[in-house]
Amino acid sequence: MTLSANKSAKKLAVGRSVKASPKDFIDQLSLDYPAFKFKPGTQEHWSPKTNTITYNPEEPINLLRYGFLHELAHAQLGHIDYEGDFELLKLEAGAWELAAKIGKKYNVVISQDHIQNCLDTYRDWLHQRSACPTCGMRVLQKDSSHYHCFNCQTQWKVTSGRFVRPYKISVAK
Ligand SMILES: [Zn+2]
Ligand SMILES: [Zn+2]
Repeated sequence: MTLSANKSAKKLAVGRSVKASPKDFIDQLSLDYPAFKFKPGTQEHWSPKTNTITYNPEEPINLLRYGFLHELAHAQLGHIDYEGDFELLKLEAGAWELAAKIGKKYNVVISQDHIQNCLDTYRDWLHQRSACPTCGMRVLQKDSSHYHCFNCQTQWKVTSGRFVRPYKISVAK
């Protein structure tokens, strides 16, 4: 490789860094990820059906970036559906891991605290759902919408509950 080619490659790399404004950030990522559509909304969300990432432009810049990268990671990982609550937690952790990697390319450092807080919200949610309403025993999920207590035989139904969580992926009905 010639020296001049090296130089222009360096220039390009510098050109990737993102300025402070949310608009610049979103414009840059839309350019870099043309496979997905991006649209503003109130709930951060990845829809595999419409191939669209919804972000919340009202969020403070850091949270907007974190949420945006997180949904982009779900999109890149091809997350479409999940079989049970525990799998959802794994998908969430995977999305955060990739979001942190993508973030590095844009000088966005997603704090581990933020990631752990988000995952804790899911863990708490999972903890509540898996506790038997009759005897309090914590049990494993039977299928995507039911739990069954091995201790007292109570069975209970759960909904996807996706709107109670801070970050969610869409669930095919
Ligand atoms: Zn029970
Ligand atoms: Zn998520």
